[in-house]
Amino acid sequence: MKITIARHAGFCFGVRRAIDITFKVRQNDPGKRIYTLGQIIHNPQVIDALTKRGIGIVHDIDDPKLKPGDIAIVRAHGISPDNKAALTVRGVEVIDAACPMVLKLHTVIKKAAKTADLIAIVGDKDHPEMDAHMGVAGDKGIIIQTLDDAKKVPRVKRLAVVAQTTFDVALYKEIIDILRDKADILDVSDTICRSTVDRQSEVRELAKDHDTFIVIGGRTSANTKRLAEIAAKENRYVIKIESPDQLEGINRSRMNKVAVIAGASTPHWVIEECIDALKSIHASSGIEGIMLDTLAESPLLPSLGCLGAAMVALVFSGQAYRWDVLLAVFFLAFSSTARTKRQRQWPTWAISTGIALSISLLANGFTGALVIIGASLLRPLLDVAGVQDYLKSLYGAAIFILTCIVVPLILTRTAVQPNIGLLTAYVATHYLTVEILLGLKNMEKDAIMGRMSLARYINEDKATMLLEYTIMGLALVLFLSFPLKAAPAIVYGLLPPLFFLAKGIDFYTEQTIFDNRMYTIYVMGLWAIVPAMGLLWMATMM
Ligand code: SF4
Repeated sequence: MKITIARHAGFCFGVRRAIDITFKVRQNDPGKRIYTLGQIIHNPQVIDALTKRGIGIVHDIDDPKLKPGDIAIVRAHGISPDNKAALTVRGVEVIDAACPMVLKLHTVIKKAAKTADLIAIVGDKDHPEMDAHMGVAGDKGIIIQTLDDAKKVPRVKRLAVVAQTTFDVALYKEIIDILRDKADILDVSDTICRSTVDRQSEVRELAKDHDTFIVIGGRTSANTKRLAEIAAKENRYVIKIESPDQLEGINRSRMNKVAVIAGASTPHWVIEECIDALKSIHASSGIEGIMLDTLAESPLLPSLGCLGAAMVALVFSGQAYRWDVLLAVFFLAFSSTARTKRQRQWPTWAISTGIALSISLLANGFTGALVIIGASLLRPLLDVAGVQDYLKSLYGAAIFILTCIVVPLILTRTAVQPNIGLLTAYVATHYLTVEILLGLKNMEKDAIMGRMSLARYINEDKATMLLEYTIMGLALVLFLSFPLKAAPAIVYGLLPPLFFLAKGIDFYTEQTIFDNRMYTIYVMGLWAIVPAMGLLWMATMM
């Protein structure tokens, strides 16, 4: 079974913005009663997270729950001017989180109201976005949902035509063709938003060589329904799901090439959970799945990074590789570099520390054992300390530097050379870039679950810019350090991981690797380049 994940799947800009605004309003006003006007998105986890923060939902502006002084948040669909004014008159503070594309459409409608005799608003009669548009259009607005509706439009001199932002692009064109005969002057506006156009054209493109579509999104989400309809119109087998458990018992016999698509209000993590579930029901993916999980979750890849950085630290200090020390560093790192707390965390810690301790005791005696015990206790202390996630990343970087640079230098009784500062800068940059890239990928989930990752703390745009400049600056310094005799040639071995970390930023911004697990493996896997470069250095020096 071949699985293709649509590039344009999950939260659109407008929905994401509305959610961000909602959480920020609560942050800025912890004491106020806050309600969203309708569900901000149709996702139970998000609604739960909002409820936990004391943000309720009212479906009607006249709901008696809304009292003067309360805050009402307008969701991405927008609100009609009358309803907004009615709330303000009642003393309710209105925070408008309507999507800028919806507001742009309102401007188009307002302008059209001055010149046109009639404004045809093409969209779904029952969609809340249409209420807002009709409210702006006033008496001149009429709703057109079907070709039949279009045929019934009375003939006028000047007719303006706009579409709901998430309407079917192809159907809109057909409706416009019918409306051409209904007026002397037809003002057509292209108001279907870019996100919708991209999603719909991608579905039509995917339909050319996929037999099955799995459409992920809320049952009441209109844009998700629309994507499913488009796939069905192309005669494809369509399975609509809201959560991964709904994939159980699906008829797999008809599925050879599967396209996974999702609506604009489907959180990315729900899509990722569904993809994981889909892959795990695929018969041949059992072993592959276990291997991918192990690579993504185990401390193997960062431990290899620690081993590689320890090799470089020894070379920078003019020392030959000491395999006893390098092995002790690897197992010490294995005990403390897993990114997530897992069920087997403590047995892994105990066994790895035990191995590192034994190696160090045999090779370096009592002092070596003490160094290992001291270093191995730092990570568990950090895990139980309950600090914020962004601080954990910073302390984690310090522990990583201690493990891969300080410990091997102590165990080999090597004096610290000035070039160790360069290596420290590299390790800190590599470690924190990994943390930020993985944080960026989980931004939505972290925002909703209230986790303050380093990426969220810095903010998405600033974080990507900071990473780009830091990586470029460090790469330049490393590149110049050999000709300036500040570091041995092994320093060039640190450039490929930096290059691929920079690619990781592109992959994130372009969503090239959508699958969270694959992205984690890509980012974490870059640690493995460092020991490979260390071995290459050894081979070339022999
Ligand atoms: S689908 Fe388009 S118009 Fe609607 S919220 Fe998303 S970006 Fe805005």
